[in-house]
Amino acid sequence: MSTVVLENVTKVYPGGFVAIDRMNLRAEEGELLVLLGPSGCGKSTLLRMIAGLEEITSGSLWLDGRLANDLTPRERNVAMVFQSGALYPHRTVRGNLSFPLEIAGVEVPEIRERVEALAKALQIEETLDRRPHTLSGGQRQRVAMGRAILRQPSLFLMDEPLSNLDAGMRTELRMEISSLVRSLGITTIYVTHDQVEALSLADRIAIINRGVLQDIGTPAQVYNDPATAFTAAFLSSQQLNLLAATVRTPQNQYVLLDFGPSQIVIPWTDPRAYAVSRHTGMQIIVGIRPDVLVPVSDQAEGPTLVGRVRTLEYHGHEWLAFLEAGIPAVSVPQPPDQRRHLMAGTTGKARSLIRRMLGRENGAAAQ
Ligand code: ATP
Repeated sequence: MSTVVLENVTKVYPGGFVAIDRMNLRAEEGELLVLLGPSGCGKSTLLRMIAGLEEITSGSLWLDGRLANDLTPRERNVAMVFQSGALYPHRTVRGNLSFPLEIAGVEVPEIRERVEALAKALQIEETLDRRPHTLSGGQRQRVAMGRAILRQPSLFLMDEPLSNLDAGMRTELRMEISSLVRSLGITTIYVTHDQVEALSLADRIAIINRGVLQDIGTPAQVYNDPATAFTAAFLSSQQLNLLAATVRTPQNQYVLLDFGPSQIVIPWTDPRAYAVSRHTGMQIIVGIRPDVLVPVSDQAEGPTLVGRVRTLEYHGHEWLAFLEAGIPAVSVPQPPDQRRHLMAGTTGKARSLIRRMLGRENGAAAQ
């Protein structure tokens, strides 16, 4: 087990490209920390610096309280699992799994026993005498994972280990990784660009964009209370509505978000009203997920947004209604009679729940 601390870590590649910019990050002992961000944001660079495969341009990396900038990969005692599985092609699965134990000088009978026990746990017993090229992607990743476990590292580093697998296998292995690393209690840093993977696996998620840390917290914290508009948009499975609104509090009777073509009224009884009211008179950016907007009747109380339905899009378990004049997309769950009601071109009145104010605009700080 190990703690990982990055202090002002920067990576500048030859040619001057800043891939990681003054990153401060901490992974606690036994924690599963997920690094999440779009392609090219610097996740792999960060992981490779922690592994010792990439030089740190400036700043400090501490592994278990020990300054690690100049330690060799071997001295860091980390095990890395890559997207490709990266197995030795000429060794059988048994040979691949045995390798770290052979290096460590473990006796042959013990190697056999430990390899077979782990192969059983990973459900790859029947592949032990096969070569990597005869395995499925999922089996290859299980072997790579097994080999990493048998090294008994103090830190696991995983770089998109599931991204080459189909959706079903990804879900299955995701659950196995989660229970495996938690039962072993080994600190794990896991890189992905998939928000579902991050939300379902992580103890905490660090969201990165263009080499800069955007947000860090438990999955619930970053999803429900994102620090930046980028975090909110990146974690939203549906496209996030980011709308400019002016905040008004007429005679202190209620809080009003004025979007121009329409408004949302937030009664003072709503716990979000106070936070929004602090920006009275200012223009702010409001992030609204389609799945928190549902169609309601004209008599409905609470925050509502009025708009005519422009178009409907089928998404399997729900429909998305796009309202006119830049008003957000609204999630319309089945049953279909609601859809017919909306399609008839009636006024789609949507109750909205304002998740949080996002971003900074015209000096209005996101609280
Ligand atoms: P992906 O999810 O696509 O793997 P990533 O978030 O892991 O992306 P990195 O591979 O860390 O991103 O790359 C971050 C940035 O650094 C990218 O713009 C990439 O082009 C650049 N980069 C990576 N390696 C080098 C290098 N050796 N020399 C110059 N630039 C590099």
